Amino acid sequence: MIKFSTLAAALVAVSATLSIAQPAFASSATEDNTFAIAIHGGAGTITRADLTEEQEAAYTAKLTEALNAGHAILAEGGTSMDAVIAAVQIMEASPLFNAGLGAVYTFDGGHELDASIMDGATLEAGAVAGVKTIKSPIALARSVMENSVHVMLSGEGAEQFAAEQGLEQVPNDYFDTEHRYQQLEQAREKLGVADKQAYLELDEKYKYGTVGAVAVDKYGNLSAATSTGGMTAKRYGRIGDSPIIGAGTWADNASCAVSATGHGEYFIRYHVAADICSRVKYLGESVETAGDTVIHDVLLPAGGTGGVIILDAEGNVHMPFNTEGMYRASRVGNAEAEVAIYKD
Ligand code: ASP
Repeated sequence: MIKFSTLAAALVAVSATLSIAQPAFASSATEDNTFAIAIHGGAGTITRADLTEEQEAAYTAKLTEALNAGHAILAEGGTSMDAVIAAVQIMEASPLFNAGLGAVYTFDGGHELDASIMDGATLEAGAVAGVKTIKSPIALARSVMENSVHVMLSGEGAEQFAAEQGLEQVPNDYFDTEHRYQQLEQAREKLGVADKQAYLELDEKYKYGTVGAVAVDKYGNLSAATSTGGMTAKRYGRIGDSPIIGAGTWADNASCAVSATGHGEYFIRYHVAADICSRVKYLGESVETAGDTVIHDVLLPAGGTGGVIILDAEGNVHMPFNTEGMYRASRVGNAEAEVAIYKD
């Protein structure tokens, strides 16, 4: 069954192309439809004691900037796809988050980036894993979705595709930041040399900080995007949940859009993003019930820590997490932006 909002959006697009007056029902559907956006900048051990006032202000300002960039696109009648890209790119360009500039270090002292994107109207998706020179991994994920016949590209092949697409490439040390290097040093010290794979033992603060966005536009179309440097001290080409469609990212107009952050191995095994949306779709659960069940009742007892942002086509937002904090923000229609970091 074609959703009314999808049909209306198609008619609006066709009428715009043909420069004819829009049918009354299409324009009223456009005006009535709520648009909304939610973003995250990672979950983990984030308590008031961990952040100085200046740091808190910097995170709040950057989250607000990213949220409002996406919101402005939606308010002007732009697509949810453009909105999530705009929001994620602002966070990728900021050293505050573990994505793009500011990405965590691998055990060997470099950066390997993962990203994915999904279009809820068409269920098309694009993903990249383990890329080292792509300034905006989320832009490459979109390019994979739109300009390749594949869903997921990795490593050197993904970089070759990026070059062919004319996407900006940078030396790997573009992503360097002093504070992430300190985290690597501490992580290496903690891990020792005995078991270099044992990052499971690391404190949450060494692990998280991924960024993501979900949005619904005036035409009722959902999109989701996620971008990350992965986990500090990762080895052997480890890939997390962020570039895996259904684990770290999912969007389907018939249910919801999700972007995840947390301990990727668990998010992969529990297929978190898709599981939440399947509950909405097949059990008829609200985004709140589905999100809380998966994050608190399924993931946590299994040992999986992290959180998600969820949005449905009606503009219902829910942002559950089972860690001490999650950088997050949302804005529904023209309501005020809501920005939060801690649990309370
Ligand atoms: N989920 C990411 C990963 O496992 C990490 C994060 O959310 O910060 O690669």
